[in-house]
Amino acid sequence: MSNLSIQQRVLDLAPSATLAMKARAKVLQDQGISIISMGAGEPDFETPSCIIDAVKRALDKGVNRYTGVRGTDELIAAMQLKFERDQKVRYEPTEVISTVGAKMAIAMAIEAVAGPGDEVIVIAPYWVSYPEQIKLAGATPVITSSTISSIKKAITPHTKAIIVNSPNNPTGEVLPESYLRELCDLLVGTGIWLISDEIYEHLVFDGRKHVSPASLSDDARSRTLIITGASKGYAMTGWRVGFAAGPQKLVAAIAKLQEQRYTCIAAVTQAAAAFALREPAELTAEIEKMRVSYQDRRDRLVQYLKNIPQIKCTAPQGTFYALLDFSEVMKDDETLASRLLTEAHVATV
Ligand code: PLP
Repeated sequence: MSNLSIQQRVLDLAPSATLAMKARAKVLQDQGISIISMGAGEPDFETPSCIIDAVKRALDKGVNRYTGVRGTDELIAAMQLKFERDQKVRYEPTEVISTVGAKMAIAMAIEAVAGPGDEVIVIAPYWVSYPEQIKLAGATPVITSSTISSIKKAITPHTKAIIVNSPNNPTGEVLPESYLRELCDLLVGTGIWLISDEIYEHLVFDGRKHVSPASLSDDARSRTLIITGASKGYAMTGWRVGFAAGPQKLVAAIAKLQEQRYTCIAAVTQAAAAFALREPAELTAEIEKMRVSYQDRRDRLVQYLKNIPQIKCTAPQGTFYALLDFSEVMKDDETLASRLLTEAHVATV
């Protein structure tokens, strides 16, 4: 059987640290051990009941067929409305697409713009899937700190895209408009795409506002692909629905990839998403309740950590993450996460 091989780039792919931790925590939970789960980036709220009701109504009407690649007309219209309302950018129907989670939108965007010999800049700290997805496309991830000067230094003739993620996983930082403006200014005149992962857009604290770089100038709009989804803000991780909006050229390329990969996302999921994106008042109230709860938990975590001087924590400005500095306690993060799980029954990443 030794002549049956698996592609090296697949063998080299790092497993998702987040999903690995979720699996390890489940083993302990199955043994009856109560685990405080801070591993996977998953809301602990149920999907709001008004979304479930909307889906039931859609099922009764029959949503059991393939749809257009980008989504149903209803979902496309809802995405247009959403991007204009929240990101303050108007998109044509050919400039939006629904995908299997934001994750697939990011993977296809990278694949569409970068390949062997190309580089994609990832600003640290970053979501662990970005570099693996870049490698899967055959391109090279270039990791840089978030200062504009270090991003400038990281740009080479091979740079095809920069991934920016605000609100940020894992720091919870919400990038200010002034920073995003500087970043966009840096890209003027270059052939570099800006992939803006805005999946945590609903979860911003202390009166801050989420700003999309695509809204900042015509040039920024022409090079930015906004990626977002229903997973975090609507507590819909398992529905697997993401949304992307950007220049027609790039969205068409993503649609081409999607068409040959999985045709379209599940029709029933599209019905859920089309309802949710319109954010009727009953849903807005639920979204706000979840946001306030995350903010409250952030406050309590930060307050509690003040009592442990060895652990440093910058107060997250959004998301449901906190990136803690344990370096005075332990240098190796994997050992730390492992010990927190087995000894304290707290799942972290
Ligand atoms: N982007 C970031 C920064 C994330 O943290 C996650 C999920 O944890 C995703 C994208 C993927 O989200 P989705 O469930 O829409 O695929």
